[in-house]
Amino acid sequence: MPSALLHPDKALSLVLASAPAPRLEPCRLAGALGRALPHSLPCLVDQPPFDKSSMDGFAYAPLAGGGSYRVVGPSGAAGAAALPVLKPGECCRVMTGAPIPEGASAVQRIELCEISPDEKSVRLTASEREPNIVRRGANERAGDTLLSPRLLAPQDLGILASSGYSEIEVARRPLIGVLSTGDELTVPGSPLGPACIYDSNGPALCAQALAAGAEARSYGIARDEPGALQTSLERALGDCDILLVSGGVSMGNFDYVPSTLEALGVEEVFHKIAIRPGKPCFFGTMGEKLVFGLPGNPMATFVAFEFFVRPLVARMLGIVYSPRLLRARLSAPLVQAEAERVDFLPVAIEPGDEEGPFLAPLAYHGSSMLNVLSKADALVRLEIGTGTIPKGGWVDARLVRP
Ligand code: AMP
Ligand code: MG
Repeated sequence: MPSALLHPDKALSLVLASAPAPRLEPCRLAGALGRALPHSLPCLVDQPPFDKSSMDGFAYAPLAGGGSYRVVGPSGAAGAAALPVLKPGECCRVMTGAPIPEGASAVQRIELCEISPDEKSVRLTASEREPNIVRRGANERAGDTLLSPRLLAPQDLGILASSGYSEIEVARRPLIGVLSTGDELTVPGSPLGPACIYDSNGPALCAQALAAGAEARSYGIARDEPGALQTSLERALGDCDILLVSGGVSMGNFDYVPSTLEALGVEEVFHKIAIRPGKPCFFGTMGEKLVFGLPGNPMATFVAFEFFVRPLVARMLGIVYSPRLLRARLSAPLVQAEAERVDFLPVAIEPGDEEGPFLAPLAYHGSSMLNVLSKADALVRLEIGTGTIPKGGWVDARLVRP
């Protein structure tokens, strides 16, 4: 039966279509870890920049018939200036990574060299399978693409440095404001009042925002009262590029978020989608500012961030987010709770057999069970109308841990 609710994929395309274009700013290489490179960068120098030896040994200019080679040049590692030009029958000591002298066409590794007692000649004791020379530009040529758009990892900084980059252009990090709502919420660190719970969405969403490559700012907890809510929302909307409000978006008596946002000029794009957990998800825009009203249930908030906000942040950083997927078999049946919605169900990776690991469905009784995420390595997405996937069935799981 087709669902009357908006499909999450359609909702995601609406979110992405609202994303403002990335803004660029310069960044020193030393501070570029985790920043977004929004366009490809070219290699600035040939890699390696000169013909170099891949072995410790002797570079030699071959002589027909082999025999003994006369040693010329310095005995240690020679800089380019001190390198001799080899004539046929001559050889020169080289270290791994050192430049190859002109005239040499191969390097004989030291283990296959017999050096005369006076160190003036060398005999090659066996033939090498390879010339042991890495040619200039063999790894990369100046002008080739060095890095494509991405969030920069430590190894990327090494690659950039190897080409001589000391400063690059990165995308400005969008500022994500996080506001929790609910009279029952207590700030962690304070004593828990009667019938109260700790605000877990606020810290989790701020951390998710940072992990996605954005900046995060907490606006604390707003009470379920339209005036207080409006004051907090107004302040956060003034500062932030993206605002994440958790709680207060359902149809309960104290769910003032959508109406208060509307009163402040936020235009609704959607409210309610065919996703589980996370059905009451609200999304609206105010000029270039983007606002999510996320369901208060912590699992729903977590999933909604992963599904909507992470790809949005990537789009605003000029990169494409593609979830890291693990294709593996289920160690037990995975049961869709409701056929009319796309389900995201937590699974743990377990040791498997020669065909790879297993995915174990985790006991999960509703979207308030945040603790299940402590055991979950991934979420399996079940499309509308999937029903049950049997034990042994292959699924794609979306990894949620680094
Ligand atoms: P709501 O969407 O406001 O109706 O909240 C749904 C459920 O999520 C309720 O049980 C709330 O107590 C819980 N909840 C709402 N906000 C938070 C939060 N910031 N941290 C943890 N749980 C929350
Ligand atoms: Mg609430």
